[in-house]
Amino acid sequence: MKKPTKSFKAEMNLPKLIEQFGDNDKCRARLTQLRWPNGVTCPRCESKSISQVIERNQHDCNCCRYQFSATSGTIFHDTHLPLSKWFLAIYLMTEAKKGVSALQMKRTLDIAYQTAWHLCHRIRAAMREINAELLRGVVEVDETYVGGKVRGMGRGYKGNKAIAIGAVQRAGKIRLQVIEHADKATLHQFIHDNTAPDTEAIYTDELPAYWGIEDADTKHRVVRHSIEEWVVGDVHTNGIESVWSLLKRSIIGSYHRVSIKHLDAYLDELEHRFNNRKNEYIFRDTLTKLVNAAKLPYQELIKAA
Ligand SMILES: [Zn+2]
Repeated sequence: MKKPTKSFKAEMNLPKLIEQFGDNDKCRARLTQLRWPNGVTCPRCESKSISQVIERNQHDCNCCRYQFSATSGTIFHDTHLPLSKWFLAIYLMTEAKKGVSALQMKRTLDIAYQTAWHLCHRIRAAMREINAELLRGVVEVDETYVGGKVRGMGRGYKGNKAIAIGAVQRAGKIRLQVIEHADKATLHQFIHDNTAPDTEAIYTDELPAYWGIEDADTKHRVVRHSIEEWVVGDVHTNGIESVWSLLKRSIIGSYHRVSIKHLDAYLDELEHRFNNRKNEYIFRDTLTKLVNAAKLPYQELIKAA
């Protein structure tokens, strides 16, 4: 993966974060601003005629009398965690190139492990990109197996592993997803769902399941890894493979053991961080996603735990 050629100064750093968002009132004011950039609006009736109930951090709608706060109906609602800790957690997750484990979050924020685990998952869920734009130009596609070794089974054993598929547009964004089987129907579906119909070229390895992906305006070029062929002219899959090595270093370095059931969430997080790698406002933009994301129902979160 190429480093950004032009270095940028990120909008946020740790001293600034502590200075600007060290207390809950400042955090609340920021969330209000990000949630209602054009002025506070009633979530129930959309009226802009709102009174403040300052002592309780509440807004009172003058039309329907609904009382709400900056966090009502957001994932920050009903949380016993101070907003300043949420802000710190979000900062750490957007900043850490290889991710942050729940254990690390527990220690850094001085909170219970369960709280840290839920916090990480809620932030991760909000990072998922909805209605992502299609990739185009030259797109590399590759799949990889993620998961633990099983004692007594050879390296080729795939029973305890999950399969991730990914696509990267050259010098552009990535899309990652967990799949059940690396068969032709699944791989072709993933490519169709994530690339524009007039994509110039798809580059893959020689796996037969990719065959036939080309059409009138999309070429398909292959590097044959089985014969140690890695680069043929412009054709290689080094971009997506460096995303896999980043994923695997994260799993070894930070998460230690990623439950296969949660791999999709980790892929969303990696995708969000990678696609915002040149975005100096990644902290603000992530915060905006969080304040606008629907709450992840608790039952949904724990069902796979
Ligand atoms: Zn109202």
